Amino acid sequence: MKATDRPANGYCSRSYRRGGGGGGGGGGRGSVSGNVMLIASILVLSVHYGHAQDFGYDGAKGPSHWGEQYNSCTGKHQSPININSLDVKKVNLPPLVFQGFDVAPRETNLTNNGHTVVVTMESEVTPTVTGGPLKGVYEYSQLHFHWGDNDTFGSEDMIDNHRFPMELHIVFFKQEYKNARTALNHPDGLTVLAFFYEIAPIDNPMYTEFIELLGNVTGSHLSARFDTPPSLKDLLAEDLLHYYTYDGSLTTPPCSEVVTWIDFKEPILLSHAQVQAFRALEDEEGHPLTHNFRPVQPIGDRVVLFNTDEMIKQVELDEEHPPEPEGVDTNKLEPAKSASDEAKSPKDPSNRKHPRNAASTLPGAARWTLFALALALIAQVVRC
Ligand SMILES: [Zn+2]
Repeated sequence: MKATDRPANGYCSRSYRRGGGGGGGGGGRGSVSGNVMLIASILVLSVHYGHAQDFGYDGAKGPSHWGEQYNSCTGKHQSPININSLDVKKVNLPPLVFQGFDVAPRETNLTNNGHTVVVTMESEVTPTVTGGPLKGVYEYSQLHFHWGDNDTFGSEDMIDNHRFPMELHIVFFKQEYKNARTALNHPDGLTVLAFFYEIAPIDNPMYTEFIELLGNVTGSHLSARFDTPPSLKDLLAEDLLHYYTYDGSLTTPPCSEVVTWIDFKEPILLSHAQVQAFRALEDEEGHPLTHNFRPVQPIGDRVVLFNTDEMIKQVELDEEHPPEPEGVDTNKLEPAKSASDEAKSPKDPSNRKHPRNAASTLPGAARWTLFALALALIAQVVRC
C-alpha cells in the first residue's frame, strides 16, 4: 500500500485545485470530473498495484509465487498469453468509440510506484471507450508500462511467440461500477487497451517530455508533473481498427479475471534510447527495475478474436456458429460473455441468434425425417 499512497498524498489534487482554480473558467463540472477521475486513478492504483511490497518479478516474490498469496493468480483465464495469429477468429466488431482521447489534460503526473511508471491525468473530459467487444462505457483510470532488460523482450502478451521490447496498458473501468475497486468484483469490470512498442532509428517526438520526466522519478515513489500534458491520442499508434481481443486478468496481483483485453496490432515506435530510459528506474529496494513483465499463462479454453476490416466469409463464421444470415457484425464475444446474457438488450444481435437458429434448423430436420420414412416405405414395398 505504501507505494500507492504516495501519489495519492494530495500532491496531485492540491496542486491541481490551486492551479486550476486560479486559472478560472474551470467551473464546478470540470473540478468534479477531474476529482472523480483522480480518485478513480488512486483506487485502481491501490488495487492494481496494492501491497506493493508483496510481489516482484524475481526470486521468492516472483510471478511463480504470486498464487501463494493471491488465489486468482492460479486461475484458468490469466494474462498475459501468447496469441497465435493462425488460431485467432477473425471478426468484424462494431467500431470502437474513443471519447476525450484528443483532449490535453489539465494536469498529468508520472509516478514510479516501484513496479512500473504510472500516468494519472486530470482533465475536463474524462476519456472513455466503448464499442468493439465492449458492452457499456469504460472510463479512463491510469496507464502504465511493462518492459524488459533489453530490446528483444519486455511485452507481456506475445504475438506468435514474439515479445516486443515494451508494452503500454491503458486501464479503464466500467462506468456503471463507479470505480475500479468495485469493478474488480465483476467479470466485465475493466478493459485494458494494450499497445506494443517497436524500436525505431529515431526518437518519437511525442514522447520527448515523457522520457525527460523519467529522469525525475528514478527512485521508487517519486512523482513528476508534465509541463505540457500530452493527450492520450498523442501517445498511441494510428491504426485503432486492427486488434486482438480476449478475456483475461490483471497481470499483477491480485490477478483478478475481470479484464477485456484489447491488443492493437500496430506498434508504437520509440528509439532504443527512449526505451532504455525506462530501464534506469529503480524498484522499492533501490535495485534497477530492468524488467517487469509476467510470463505468459495458459490460454485454456479461450478464443482470441481478431478485429479486421476484411469482410469475413460466412463459411468461416459457420465453422463455430450456426448461420447468421444478416451479417458478420453479429459475431461478437458471445461465447465468452454468456454470464452477462441477462444484461443484454433486446437489440443485441446475439439475442436474436437463438430464435433464428431454431427457425432454420427445424425444417431441415423435419425434411430428413420425412425422407427417411419415405425410404423405409419404399424398402418395405420392394421387399414385399
Ligand atoms: Zn499492466
